[in-house]
Amino acid sequence: MDLSLFDLHCDTAFELFATKQRLASNNLHISLENTAKFKQYIQVMAFFTSPDLTDNAGWDRFLKMRKYLLADPAVTFGTVEAVTTCPPRKKGVSLLFAIEDTRIFSGQIDRVTQAFLLGVRVLTPLWAGETCMGGAHDTDAGLTDFGRQAITKALSLGMILDVSHASVRSAEEIFSLAAAQKRPVIASHSNAADVCPVSRNLSRTQIHRILDLGGIIGLNLYPRFLKKSKSASINDLLPHIEFFLEEGAEHALCLGGDWDGATLPEELHSIQDLSKLADLLLSKNHSETLIQNLFFENAYSFAKKYMTFLF
Ligand SMILES: [Zn+2]
Repeated sequence: MDLSLFDLHCDTAFELFATKQRLASNNLHISLENTAKFKQYIQVMAFFTSPDLTDNAGWDRFLKMRKYLLADPAVTFGTVEAVTTCPPRKKGVSLLFAIEDTRIFSGQIDRVTQAFLLGVRVLTPLWAGETCMGGAHDTDAGLTDFGRQAITKALSLGMILDVSHASVRSAEEIFSLAAAQKRPVIASHSNAADVCPVSRNLSRTQIHRILDLGGIIGLNLYPRFLKKSKSASINDLLPHIEFFLEEGAEHALCLGGDWDGATLPEELHSIQDLSKLADLLLSKNHSETLIQNLFFENAYSFAKKYMTFLF
């Protein structure tokens, strides 16, 4: 089966910068060698800054990581395109920029606009603990006043908000802020808490909030979010997929592999091994249409609808 891929989350920009490697060929989960088999490949590439940096130093690191990625020969020679709107259907590789953990706004509202002007289109406001934005999944805190202001601003610019890593209260507030502006909310890399009850996964209520707002959900491959165990196999994705389908998410379910940010199920060594997931789903009598939707079409339809603003 010919596969295209539109993946909602990776930390490859962080790893490329940290190890001074390039996109064409490297020892990471994502390289152009590893993605060559996908007809069209669109990756939401998150800029994540390590928690040992202060918020302000994190902002500087984001600027450096972005610069490093844009100076990658694959980007400068045009093999890979950094895009700010949904790219057309064609062969090739496109990157959409995101920031994971927007504590790096450091209480400065103008950084939301700066991030937008620097091409960032997806924001994951939280990661861990309590920050200038609000409480993450490991806390009971909601958004701060600044967090609400920053998210309202981002929504008004047309950016996509992501509740992965948010606390229950923060996520609820993000849903309300987005609903007020008739904008969708995504969970870029989270699974079903009914199948694997960890705070990083989504409750049934949250899944329905996302679906009602027209959002999408990216399945995370991290073994600890698949089942309560250090290791997992791709078979452990099946109960999550089936749960989401039962909840009516067949047109919202996508992949958000957390590539280069987490360990992978045992059969997967890099993003190219995702074809094993397609084979597994076929062997379980899932249709080719469902697989194409999961791998590409659902995220693509979403991006076409909500990420086509001109810039
Ligand atoms: Zn993450």
